[in-house]
Amino acid sequence: MLAQSFVSILPRLSEKEMIETAKIHSIAGELESSAAATLTRPFRAPHHSASHIALIGGGKEAGPGEITLAHNGVLFLDEFPEFQRNVIEALRQPMESGKVIVSRAAGSFNYPARFILVATKNPCPCGWYRSDQRECVCAMTQIINYQKKISGPIADRIDIHIEAQKVDYERLASPDEEARSMAIRKRVERARASQEKRFQKEKSAHTNARMSPRQIKAYCPLDKESQQTLKNAVESLKLSARAYHKIIKIARTIADLEESENIGFNHIAEAIQYQPRG
Ligand SMILES: [Zn+2]
Repeated sequence: MLAQSFVSILPRLSEKEMIETAKIHSIAGELESSAAATLTRPFRAPHHSASHIALIGGGKEAGPGEITLAHNGVLFLDEFPEFQRNVIEALRQPMESGKVIVSRAAGSFNYPARFILVATKNPCPCGWYRSDQRECVCAMTQIINYQKKISGPIADRIDIHIEAQKVDYERLASPDEEARSMAIRKRVERARASQEKRFQKEKSAHTNARMSPRQIKAYCPLDKESQQTLKNAVESLKLSARAYHKIIKIARTIADLEESENIGFNHIAEAIQYQPRG
């Protein structure tokens, strides 16, 4: 539910995105949904029992998988560690490049797959590890195996990690919440517009998320205090170079949402909070 309402705060599809999205959905034979797909961003929520072919694409027809159907939209993987290990690992390349190569005997096909991944995970298979409400019934080895299912490289490619409480469904479904979503979308669209302006001379990036290390250097200067805080976080949390860049990109986006021209210490500090800790 929370993930589904996430789509309502995303910026509306551009004309180019609408055409792309409609094309993909008609290739996949989802003609009846292609009309709706041109208006809203796709939201795909495959079950954790889904096969490699269903998720990534391929098969006899080398058809697009869920990750391609989620292009320009949201791919929601509930109970992420319950997915097959080879499926989880196969997400690494598309998360990186926004594309997926699907091969079959006749040759290989290149499909777009630039989605926002929203994934959930419990602390353990039964869901109650470290809870004060109920006792966890899992064996320690089960808990470790479950946690390990999301490998370091995959976790490293997820920008924002948040520990969430069980959210009251009624509050989420209330009209108040709808009005709030609309207000948030306006802020998101404003932040997007300032990013487009920032990158108007660039060919490769039009959003903060897609900045290269060179562009991060050029567009995201940090003051001394922020630099020091980031350096301390990298050392104490043992963060990768990727995570270092990720934090700056997230901080840039937080600053954009606040319509702040410069990245401040508070933006960097908030972005560090979203990194996973051991
Ligand atoms: Zn448990």
